[in-house]
Amino acid sequence: MNGNIKLKTLITEKQIKQRVAALSREISAHYSGETLMIVGLLNGSFIFLADLVRQLNQYKLHLIVDFMRIYSYGSNTVTSGKPTLCQDVTIDVKGRHILIVDDILDTGHTIEYVIQYLSAFKPLSLRSCVCLDKTGRRQANVQADYVGFTIPDVFVVGYGLDYDGRFREIPDISILS
Ligand code: 5GP
Ligand code: MG
Repeated sequence: MNGNIKLKTLITEKQIKQRVAALSREISAHYSGETLMIVGLLNGSFIFLADLVRQLNQYKLHLIVDFMRIYSYGSNTVTSGKPTLCQDVTIDVKGRHILIVDDILDTGHTIEYVIQYLSAFKPLSLRSCVCLDKTGRRQANVQADYVGFTIPDVFVVGYGLDYDGRFREIPDISILS
């Protein structure tokens, strides 16, 4: 069905579930009693973000959820390295605690761009949370405050991550080859 495309599981659904629960404990401890505005980066973050906010629901913090869309990839597996804003947040970030949520931190150009962009609107604080971190591929000088899993330099799909729009619905994170 997938032609020559092969998928090999890297992180299972069960591992993801446990890690998201741990991340939400960490996040809730930091923002306890506060209002936190989650800014998800579309499209890749949608499943991770949905799981994360439902875990955060059990803790003592108030959430606001909004999204941005940043374009940096074509339909291939090589980054263009130059992020462009396609869709802005619709809620004012000024004076709020902001947590940027993305699927994966790769070269870091996307998160670097979003941090610079949102900083200009004077949030009270600005942190980032990514499901995956390919530390070996970093070009920009950025780190995420919350990381689900550190992974090697492989192209992954599933759990919201796509290849040419496909495979986002797969519950595991798999290596594509
Ligand atoms: P960066 O700007 O950090 O290089 O890349 C961030 C974006 O590139 C991610 O939000 C994601 O959309 C895409 N990306 C980076 N690595 C992968 C990968 O292994 N698989 C998929 N599907 N997307 C990736
Ligand atoms: Mg993305």
